Amino acid sequence: MANPTAKSWLPEANHPTTDFPLTHLPYGAFLVEGQQHLCVAIGDHLLDLHSCASTGLLPPTLTESCQAPTLNLLMSQGHAAWTLLRKTLTALLHIDVNPEHKEKAEAALHSIAGASLQKPVHIPNYTDFYASIHHATRVGQLFRPDQPLLPNYKHIPIGYHGRASSIIVSGYAVTRPVGQSRPFSPDTQSKFLPTNALDYELELALYIGTPNLLSAPIPISEAAGHLFGISLLNDWSARDVQSWEYQPLGPFLAKNFATSISPWVTPMSALEPFHAPAATRPDPDPKLLPYLHSVADQNHGSIDVKLEVLISTFTMRENNLEPHSLSKSSAEGLYWTPSQLVAHHTSNGCNLQIGDVLATGTISGPSEASAGCLLELTRNGARPIPLPTGESRTFLQDGDEIILRGSCEAPGHPRIGLGECRATILPART
Ligand code: CA
Repeated sequence: MANPTAKSWLPEANHPTTDFPLTHLPYGAFLVEGQQHLCVAIGDHLLDLHSCASTGLLPPTLTESCQAPTLNLLMSQGHAAWTLLRKTLTALLHIDVNPEHKEKAEAALHSIAGASLQKPVHIPNYTDFYASIHHATRVGQLFRPDQPLLPNYKHIPIGYHGRASSIIVSGYAVTRPVGQSRPFSPDTQSKFLPTNALDYELELALYIGTPNLLSAPIPISEAAGHLFGISLLNDWSARDVQSWEYQPLGPFLAKNFATSISPWVTPMSALEPFHAPAATRPDPDPKLLPYLHSVADQNHGSIDVKLEVLISTFTMRENNLEPHSLSKSSAEGLYWTPSQLVAHHTSNGCNLQIGDVLATGTISGPSEASAGCLLELTRNGARPIPLPTGESRTFLQDGDEIILRGSCEAPGHPRIGLGECRATILPART
């Protein structure tokens, strides 16, 4: 674990409100003259790893991976390489740095505000889970009041295979999808129109850093070691399309038109101070099957990330109003831990690949006000949300921008922030 009192020579990185103190150093990627370079965030700046490797600031064994356009090569080098790079970068940005190294590092700094941030990981596969029991319960209440939580929920982490090709980095706009939805009556035609129920889903993305071979499940005791880091993720959803298409095979076109991901990947090692016990399973919850149980995971397998969703409408921006907070929740309360998701996903021998994203599913808190999507917050459109402009929302309108934020705090440790995951809704194609 990084020394929590270590200071950087970059003063802004020592400020208590920064997302990116010296103990964080999340990885990203940005464009330099059309070429994608890897970087780490520090204070209001990013440090160009490609440039650091060129000027001899990084160990030779890391040159190739740090000059690659994505993190996948570094991931493939394994834990020893991840630790070596973090240690090298921490020393380089530490207040006691060698002055010659500092001069070279300063030349590799760029303002984050002016940078064109890109997807830092090539993502071969994307799986989405349903790990928030509060989300599962409240969505269930809308459609099955007599049995909100399905009988399998507390036994098995529910998930489905999403679509990796349409994952976009924060800042890229989302075009309102067109799709088929339920006919007005059984003897009329179904509709094929721009979705009228566009929603966001507040989630965390878990990046797989260490793969497993086909037919070789990952035991839960080793699952955490397969994770490289986390980001914020918005799993955009067209609810009218979803409710018509999902039976019997599950979500499809209602989900795969776009998924936004934040540009910064927080390494698991930066999250060590922010782990928490797994969710309690009070009687009569079923006991965990052995492949989903480890003492270490139960004791500190959850990650305490505080989360917030904000909206900025076109009218709000026209009137220079700050984004409006829609809800706050926390990843600490998820019913399933990241290790349980990894162990379950591979329990049948399914092989995870380097760079795969496992998303948590919508993260909602115990209260209705802490819901992580509009479906819950508005009770499927029945209860509009008033906004400071006098506007209201049931689902998203064109021009709306959704912003996800996340941060971790623990006594004795600098706060870290996951940055932002934001995107604006564009009108459907005609
Ligand atoms: Ca989802």
